[in-house]
Order: sequence, then C-alpha cells, then structure tokens
Amino acid sequence: MYQTRLHGDSPVSIIGAGIAGAWHALLLAKAGRAVTVHERSDASMKASTSHWAGGMLSPWCEAEASEPVISRLGIRSLDLWRQHFPQTPFNGSLVVAHARDRADFERFAKLTTNHRRLDARGLSELEPSLEGRFREGLFYPGEGHVEPRRVLPQLHAAIARAGGKIEFNSTAEAGDLDGIVIDCRGMAARDTEPDIRPVKGEMIIIESSEVELSRPVRLIHPRFPIYIIPRGDGRFMLGATSIESEDTGVSVRSALELLGAAYVVHPAFGEARILEFGSGQRPAFPDNLPRIAIEQERIAVNGLYRHGFLLAPALAELTLGFIERGVIDNEVMQCA
Ligand SMILES: Cc1cc2nc3c(=O)[nH]c(=O)nc-3n(C[C@H](O)[C@H](O)[C@H](O)COP(=O)(O)OP(=O)(O)OC[C@H]3O[C@@H](n4cnc5c(N)ncnc54)[C@H](O)[C@@H]3O)c2cc1C
Repeated sequence: MYQTRLHGDSPVSIIGAGIAGAWHALLLAKAGRAVTVHERSDASMKASTSHWAGGMLSPWCEAEASEPVISRLGIRSLDLWRQHFPQTPFNGSLVVAHARDRADFERFAKLTTNHRRLDARGLSELEPSLEGRFREGLFYPGEGHVEPRRVLPQLHAAIARAGGKIEFNSTAEAGDLDGIVIDCRGMAARDTEPDIRPVKGEMIIIESSEVELSRPVRLIHPRFPIYIIPRGDGRFMLGATSIESEDTGVSVRSALELLGAAYVVHPAFGEARILEFGSGQRPAFPDNLPRIAIEQERIAVNGLYRHGFLLAPALAELTLGFIERGVIDNEVMQCA
C-alpha cells in the first residue's frame, strides 16, 4: 500500500477527454467523486488521437506483438466495456492471409490463443462476403470493437449522467488545478513526459454497398497489421500503418498499401468510394507500454500506444483503486 493523501472526497480534475480521460472520468464519477474534465478541443474531438482509431478490442490478436500485461489489462477491459456499455458488439474478429503469407499466418496462430481455425466453408458461413476468397482463417470469438466516433460521445454523455462535468474548449494546466489531477493529454504531455513519442497511424474510410462484414478482418501483412472494420451504413475503416514519424499526413505509399489490402480481401472494394484519409499520433513510451505515473495528487496516464480503447477501462480501474485504497499495480504504476 502506498501512503496517499488522496482518500476522502477531494475533487478530481481530468485533463483530456480522449479515451483515457473519458474512462477515468466515468469510473471516478460513478464512484461518487466530483469530477471535472477539461478538453481543449470541441466535442467533435478531432484533435485527439482517439478520433482516428479503429476501436478494436482485441487482446488475443494483439498478443502476437505485445507484452503479457497488454493481454491482462485488455481482457479485464472487455468485462468493463460489457458492464458499462452492454451494447458493445462482441462478435469476434477474423484473421486471414494471402497464400504467399502462409508462414506468417501460422506464426500468428502460434503466438496467439483463444482462436478457432476455420476452413473456407467456415469462413463463408461467418462472413458470406468472403466466400471463395481465402482457404482458411482464424476466428477470435471473444473479441469486440467499438466505433470511436460514436463511443466517445456516448462516454461523455455517461460521464454527465454519473454527475461529472466536461468542459470543452478548455485548455488546462495541471499546476492551476486543485485537488486530484489526472493528466490524460496523450501526445500533448511531452512537456512533462519527454520520452513520449508519436507512432503515426494512417487510416482511410471507404463506402461500398457490395461488401458486408460483421466484424473486423485482419489481413496478415509483412510490415504492419492491416485491418478492415465495418462501421455500418456500408462504410469501412481501413487501418492502420505504424510509422515512427512526427508527420501527420497520409503518404501515397500508405494509401496504396491500405487500399491494396482492401482489394485483396474483396475485389468489390475496388469500386468503393473513398470518404476520408486521416492519421493520428499514437502516444508511446520507449517500451510501448502504458504508464500510470503518481506523484501524490498528480497522476499521469499515458503511453496507450496502439491499445487505447483496449486498455483505457482497466487503467482507469487501476487509478480508481489507487485513489480509493492506495493499491499499486507494479507492472503499470510508477510512484515518485
Ligand atoms: C489509426 C489508428 C488506429 C488505432 N486503432 C486502435 C484500435 O483498434 N484499438 C485500440 O485500442 N487503440 C487503437 N489506436 C490507439 C488509440 O487511438 C490511442 O491509444 C488512444 O487514442 C490514446 O488515447 P489518449 O486518451 O491517451 O489520447 P488522445 O485521444 O489524444 O486524448 C488526449 C486529449 O487531451 C486533450 N488535451 C491535450 N492537452 C490538453 C490541455 N492542456 N487541456 C485540455 N485538453 C488537452 C487533447 O485535445 C485530446 O483530446 C489507434 C490509433 C490510431 C492512430
């Protein structure tokens, strides 16, 4: 146990209403704390990384390239999404590969758990649009996904229902705020977290009336995982590159790779309309792991990297456990 001055009923200020700040505000407001969220942008949240995300909740697929702590927190987060947002779709995710990437497909299968192998028939039963496209696939039935641009406003509304306040167009400085301050500024926190770096993720939104998918489909790719996420109304998100870069644009090369992958998954995507190109900067520490840094009443939650939607609920629960009971999670927390 850590000796904290946070017990009692100190008010809580949260800086940033992205996925990290929003989940912290929700759980703290539901726990009875007086919570105020300061968000520098307007309610559209276009300046946040969260706005650009895929929103996949896939702790088992992500285990292919991440540390066990990501699976541990991710699996706990699935329960929290279910509990607080029972409408969250949990209809699994699919992994498919070109015949030429078969070795990488087998490697992916070996490094991950909680999946079922599907043959071509099993694949087309699950996703009829994929009939005849792939000889086999991996199905992860326990995974889910949210649409960030819908779920962020839902989270903000839930915070208000729980008695919390969100002030948009409100740029805050931790030093100007009293009580407990939780810094969830993502990439903007570089002034106090100099080792945070941006990992650019590019995405494209397309529209097609000829393909229907019910769940995210990942295509094994030699350089970065490419996926197609159904967004409803015939829209699909193609994501995402993973590039060490400060740049915020979308390169021709990335666009070609993402669009090419969609075309491989289904040639009818060749006729789809492009609705949007965009990119976000994933905030990452050198070890690509999330961190809750605690200095008495100042708590900084950052480094959610490519797992913000997957990890934010569990991280918020850990922060709540610390504030209420002084419980420390040694894998994630650093106490000054
Ligand atoms: C293309 C792409 C795809 C992704 N796909 C997935 C996925 O499928 N699943 C997944 O789990 N994760 C995914 N991610 C990762 C996820 O988006 C990030 O981990 C997450 O958005 C980080 O959230 P955050 O709340 O830390 O930061 P942000 O979302 O950036 O939120 C920080 C907020 O703080 C505000 N702010 C900054 N400074 C101040 C200030 N001084 N005062 C007030 N407000 C301030 C900002 O305006 C911003 O809204 C993806 C990311 C990208 C780019």
